[in-house]
Amino acid sequence: MKALVKARGEVGLWAEERPVPEIGPEDVLIRVRKTGICGTDIHIWNWDDWARRTVPLGLITGHEFAGEIVAKGALVEGLEIGQRCSGEGHLIGKLSRQSRAGRFHLDPATRGIGVNEPGAFAEFLRLPAFNVVPLPDAIDDEIGAILDPLGNAVHTALSFDLVGEDVLITGAGPIGIMAAAVARHVGARHVVITDVNQARLDLAGQVADVVPVNVATQDLKEVYAGLKMVQGFDVGMEMSGNQAALDQMVENLVMGGKIAMLGIPPGKSPVDWSRIVFKAITIKGVYGREIFETWYKMIAMLENGLDVRKVITHRFKASDFATGFEVMRSGLSGKVVLDWT
Ligand code: ZN
Repeated sequence: MKALVKARGEVGLWAEERPVPEIGPEDVLIRVRKTGICGTDIHIWNWDDWARRTVPLGLITGHEFAGEIVAKGALVEGLEIGQRCSGEGHLIGKLSRQSRAGRFHLDPATRGIGVNEPGAFAEFLRLPAFNVVPLPDAIDDEIGAILDPLGNAVHTALSFDLVGEDVLITGAGPIGIMAAAVARHVGARHVVITDVNQARLDLAGQVADVVPVNVATQDLKEVYAGLKMVQGFDVGMEMSGNQAALDQMVENLVMGGKIAMLGIPPGKSPVDWSRIVFKAITIKGVYGREIFETWYKMIAMLENGLDVRKVITHRFKASDFATGFEVMRSGLSGKVVLDWT
């Protein structure tokens, strides 16, 4: 089969012929139809410090996918050949306290497909049946291929009650934009999304009914005063990993405000803790998706009118993957989807 492999310790990915994966008794074999390119894949492409420390050379990359089950192990129950599916890319252990309590997303022994284990940028993917998420007819393959990042957005957005709240999202990448759409869908009053990249802010405005703010040229306090907000935002979602953005969020939050943090700051960064303490702010770190509650909620919302399709701005044949990565690396795209059919 064809696969995109981190074949060499330098910038890039390489298309290679690989054997179709063998499956164990509790696995399924999935014929991949569509995949999404993630920021994580860009790190791997760029072969930055994190990628060098984490990703073994020779690995098939990719973790955002939709496809169809074409074979199943002897012990697999409840899934049939031909079932369309996506799936959770975190392969969890079953021994930790968290796993045994059903909090699978907090298992410290987690390994990721396309990061530590063979991934989805291939014609076929082996996946434990446990990780499979069947797709209803209402969710087509290209939306199925972005459920992984949508899951990050949903997990972040549902961290705190948003009904009637004013929400600030810093970082208008695809996940920030999808989180904004989710916040509106579940009943937030005002959703303001900030960035310094105007193309991304324009995309945010097309995907969801939100207020895009370019903090390079606009003053956030003036924006929220214009929205008749008195003290500031009730809930923040930090999606950029940018120190200045987090600072600005703390500055513009109400007393007792809440922050869900998905963006990853590079290295250690200075934080004004006294301000966080005196404002009585709650901060929650968000990792991955709740397995499988986030999947349940996002599929239910998609069936109930949540529309994030416009966040997909580019579609390429898998053989044109290099162009897809180029578009992603430009910082001017939304989600890029590759077609493996
Ligand atoms: Zn991803």
